Amino acid sequence: SQLWQARFFTTVNHLRDLPNTQVPEIAFAGRSNAGKSTAINILANQKKLAFASKTPGRTQHINFFSIGGAHVGQHRKDATKVDEIRALLVDLPGYGYAEVSGSAKLHWQALLGDYVQRREQLAALVLIVDSRRPFTDLDIQMLEWFAPTGKPIHCLLTKADKLNRNEATNALRAARTLLDSYVDEEGQSFPFTAQLFSSLKRTGLEEANDKILSLLGL
Ligand code: GDP
Repeated sequence: SQLWQARFFTTVNHLRDLPNTQVPEIAFAGRSNAGKSTAINILANQKKLAFASKTPGRTQHINFFSIGGAHVGQHRKDATKVDEIRALLVDLPGYGYAEVSGSAKLHWQALLGDYVQRREQLAALVLIVDSRRPFTDLDIQMLEWFAPTGKPIHCLLTKADKLNRNEATNALRAARTLLDSYVDEEGQSFPFTAQLFSSLKRTGLEEANDKILSLLGL
């Protein structure tokens, strides 16, 4: 099952500017350099979709891409009919850049935290984690912000091509153990899942694709 032909929809720098759409959203979060842009581009089957958002000064914005919107005309700026959009794919600002500090850092932490905790249309989170590195403090922060919503998180353990079979198995097991360690007050675990992924080798692409579509109810 082929994925979506995603298109740029909008960029947001303040929560008050979030699009007033009703369709389900799936948001991608992760440490800078974990492979988020590459994963989004390959999942959306677009070469440069998420890279446009990496231009300096835009890295702290939330970028929305539409899925399933009809293309009205190639020469029109408003080429996407809002009422035909079936879902939005949301590229959250990468975190962990050393050079981001002070008020800029506080701004995007607040933006990120408020968005994931409060956005009703948000169906699920895709957490991008480099399979060779443990979860960072900010990855854990994302889990803790999101857990109370009761919504699913799916972790893509990226760059799996850099691991041998044994290392890959261990990385997946460690991630699942960590995710399973989160339980609510009744001792129930959260709907947190993980898989190995490689944009380079296209490992886990179909699994991720199917998971995302099902999380969006598509
Ligand atoms: P982002 O900051 O999370 O958006 O990360 P990027 O998508 O820009 O990727 C960061 C670096 O990791 C780039 O040099 C990519 O080419 C590389 N990269 C991304 N995905 C893979 C992958 O699956 N395998 C390998 N070996 N490298 C990858």
